[in-house]
Amino acid sequence: MNFLITGGAGFIGGHLTELLLKEGHHAAVIDDLSTGRVENLAAVRGNPNLELVIGDVISHPELERLIREADVIFHLAAAVGVELVVHDPVRTIMTNVSGTERVLKLASLYGKRCIVASTSEVYGKSEKDVFTETDDLLIGAPTNSRWSYACSKLLDEFMLMSYCRNHAFQGTVVRFFNTVGPRQTGRYGMVIPRFVSAALRGEDLRVYGTGEQTRCFCHVHDTIRALLEIVNHDESVGEIYNIGSNESISIRGLAERIIERTGSSSKIVQIPYSEAYEKGFEDMLHRAPNCEKIRKAFGWKAEIALNQIIDDVAHSMR
Ligand code: UDP
Repeated sequence: MNFLITGGAGFIGGHLTELLLKEGHHAAVIDDLSTGRVENLAAVRGNPNLELVIGDVISHPELERLIREADVIFHLAAAVGVELVVHDPVRTIMTNVSGTERVLKLASLYGKRCIVASTSEVYGKSEKDVFTETDDLLIGAPTNSRWSYACSKLLDEFMLMSYCRNHAFQGTVVRFFNTVGPRQTGRYGMVIPRFVSAALRGEDLRVYGTGEQTRCFCHVHDTIRALLEIVNHDESVGEIYNIGSNESISIRGLAERIIERTGSSSKIVQIPYSEAYEKGFEDMLHRAPNCEKIRKAFGWKAEIALNQIIDDVAHSMR
């Protein structure tokens, strides 16, 4: 099949592109290299089934041809990372809204199957123990720039659902929960590459807030496996799926685990959110996915444990 992966030089996109090529498909990638890196495609460079276009989805003239030639589109191009979002909310909104608007319009015009990446951020400040796809969403005030990410991605979800309803569009939304793994950069805020990198250098691990906040980390190899299941099943059209792991850990616990597994002598320091991000920054205390929907539909569940994730990330950084 012919796949188009927008954001295919990003962390998740690079792994997905590698997998699609390995399975014998053709993969076209469009990426503006804003947060993506050509090195994420180093293993498949020179593969005759790979086409790489450097440009953004908002304006690049080649996008229309790429969509016309594709059988399936994975739309992963987005502004990502809490730190980047907080510091550049305008770019976040433009990329996530205008980019997706153009991709969906063209995919609908040419009748193409399209899977759009969304995020667990859309659950916002909800205090439920686990988040289910049909839950109401609780997004914070616009004065707090963090929520620009959730809000822009939510608009993407509404746009996709509207195309499905009114234009017989074949779209699916996936909500990623803290996807991690080799090659992820800590530059835009992600905690695991930051902690592992600090541990390997013997530097302090900077835990924001109390460290009691919890997250479930999902290995990117599990995540991309879920994406293929979705493409292979037509029942996924018009649906939203959580994709994540059920292994929960506090951020302080994560820091301790990383120090232990890497045999590091690093110390843990606590940093207030106002210093780490901005005054008035709101974090969510607990975030865990209910992944029963995708498990029941296609038998998918995350299989790679946190210890293995830490070891993989440390191995790739070493
Ligand atoms: N975090 C941290 N130190 C860091 C980066 C992040 O303590 O250097 C915390 C962050 O405040 C959040 C959690 O780790 O509570 C996960 O952060 P990340 O940005 O990886 O993902 P998020 O869940 O916020 O989308």
